[in-house]
Amino acid sequence: AQVRYASILDLPAQAKCGTLISLNMNAGLMADLPSLGSSGAEGVGLFRTELQFLVRNQMPKRSELSALYARVLDAAGGKRVVFRTLDIGSDKVLPYMKPNDEPNPALGWRAIRVGLDKPGIMRMQLQALIRAANGRPLTVMFPFVAQFEEFRAARLEVDKTLAREQKLGHVLPEKVEVGAMLETPSLAFAPKKFFEEVEFLSIGGNDLKQFFFAADRENERVRRRYDTLNVSFLTFLQGIVQRCEDTTTHLSFCGEDAGRPVEALCFAAIGFRNLSMRPASIGPVKSLLRRCNLEEVREIINAARDRGEMSVRADVMAYVKAQHQ
Ligand code: PEP
Ligand code: MG
Repeated sequence: AQVRYASILDLPAQAKCGTLISLNMNAGLMADLPSLGSSGAEGVGLFRTELQFLVRNQMPKRSELSALYARVLDAAGGKRVVFRTLDIGSDKVLPYMKPNDEPNPALGWRAIRVGLDKPGIMRMQLQALIRAANGRPLTVMFPFVAQFEEFRAARLEVDKTLAREQKLGHVLPEKVEVGAMLETPSLAFAPKKFFEEVEFLSIGGNDLKQFFFAADRENERVRRRYDTLNVSFLTFLQGIVQRCEDTTTHLSFCGEDAGRPVEALCFAAIGFRNLSMRPASIGPVKSLLRRCNLEEVREIINAARDRGEMSVRADVMAYVKAQHQ
């Protein structure tokens, strides 16, 4: 795939209508970082920090994490890296933590819920990130925020940790951006004040779609039952785009669907300007975006919706095929 798209590697992800889309990559291990150069990604839109916790048999030490995050920032060479704090629970169980016997782990004690209830781990991770930045800009994102208060509480932990680190004599990051993942439908309806306070939002489409349709992402029987290009889901996403435009909140999409070219095209058509995906998807997504006019795709989506169609996929696919001829 890398060879096939080599000719557009250094070209911008610019649609035919002129709109520029920022394409970023998802990562989680040091081994992913070389892809930052070879994929043409603008930065790391999602760094899944839990992978480092999952590949060991004991809790990593703060100094180890800090060294690792510093290497990630070194490898990124000034490109933005969005570090997502520990997202454990549900499908991601730490081998050295007592498993929770929960009837519905996906709806259970996971991600920021664990972080806020056991702030020791969250503080340790924030310290490691601040020390790794060592004067460079730092971007932190909290997973699975369901309501404004959770973001506020997490943000407060960042501020407290910064103050503590300064007292201890550590160099603070040049700037700290704090954002949230929008993975539960509730957050899309948070007060306007939340959208004003959060520095950026990233849609975790894997979880958001699972909760929107109430269809388990781990369950083969239902996980493909509902189309991402379902009109209801796209309308919901459009509402989020609109709220972010109203408050000039930076918005991105980092679930797996962002790496599927037709989905990515539709996201761009409804207003997303920043997508994050696995590195191998950047070439194919860019290639399709460069052949399409987003206004035309938006019209196709609106027309399908007006006709009462369930999904816009067939119509958008027909348009995409026509661009290849
Ligand atoms: C998501 O839910 O879309 C996401 C990016 O996070 P994860 O897949 O790690 O849950
Ligand atoms: Mg998620």
